[in-house]
Amino acid sequence: MAHILVNRDSFHLAFAKDISPVAHAHSGDTATFLCRDCYNGELRRDGMDFAEMDMSTNNPVTGPLYIEEAEAGDVLKVEILAIRPDDKGCMCARLGSGIYNIEGCHCRIFPIDREKMTFDFDGITIPMIPMIGVIGTAPAGIPVPTTTPDEHGGNLDIKDMNEGVTLYLPVNVPGALLSMGDLHGVQGDGETVICALEMNGEVDVRVTVLKGRSDIPTPFLVNKTHYMTTAADPSLDVCSVKAAHKMHGFLMKHAGLSDAKAGMLLSLKGNLRISQVVNPHKGCIMEFPKGILPIDFEE
Ligand code: CA
Ligand code: CA
Repeated sequence: MAHILVNRDSFHLAFAKDISPVAHAHSGDTATFLCRDCYNGELRRDGMDFAEMDMSTNNPVTGPLYIEEAEAGDVLKVEILAIRPDDKGCMCARLGSGIYNIEGCHCRIFPIDREKMTFDFDGITIPMIPMIGVIGTAPAGIPVPTTTPDEHGGNLDIKDMNEGVTLYLPVNVPGALLSMGDLHGVQGDGETVICALEMNGEVDVRVTVLKGRSDIPTPFLVNKTHYMTTAADPSLDVCSVKAAHKMHGFLMKHAGLSDAKAGMLLSLKGNLRISQVVNPHKGCIMEFPKGILPIDFEE
């Protein structure tokens, strides 16, 4: 198996079938994506004004990586093997962004070490839980900006997109065209101020093409403890129900449950969570714990 380097020079701003791949891999190969932060390096100093920042290349993603065996209708399994943050992260809280009425503009840079970010210079520290904000494949139809999450993945901003997670994405076009970026050092559910701890960094993944796996409700996450279905929509009402329905269908299919039993179990042990409320499509996930009942799902 080969190891592919996907350089950060090759960023783009939409998931689209006509973007030329910058690297090629075979199913089973590993790759390292060098990723730019969501401001594309424009937040250059602590306290700078947002108006000084050129936002024309906001939310750049690295890629796309073409996976040779991938054909429309397949599923791309992406194992997130490692996420290595840069040594600093940044945030900007400002009027008109996020869900709060914040006065003025507050752009900040925070030091990072392997374990923690230093939130303030008065000794507040927050443990690092690095994650990928944007990850997806090309859609079959019109291009989708990297700011928008949808069925192809994209700007999912799911705080569980960590090292050790396996993500399943749809293959809509030949080669799948996998790209990613918008790494976060740490993020809460909701991402309510519109940004998290934004940072440059590197991501190691293994990509595997799965044939004949239309049973997987993509974009789908599996970690050591949970299965997670996802949905995105301008309406939280719509995407919450959609994420829950996806998990309901998953349990009926893979645990052999009736609709009523699957619904009861989800009402008892499923957690329907908001992933973010600040992107053009809002996002929800339904998580269901492993170990409650036998689930016949080949990861
Ligand atoms: Ca994001
Ligand atoms: Ca972000």
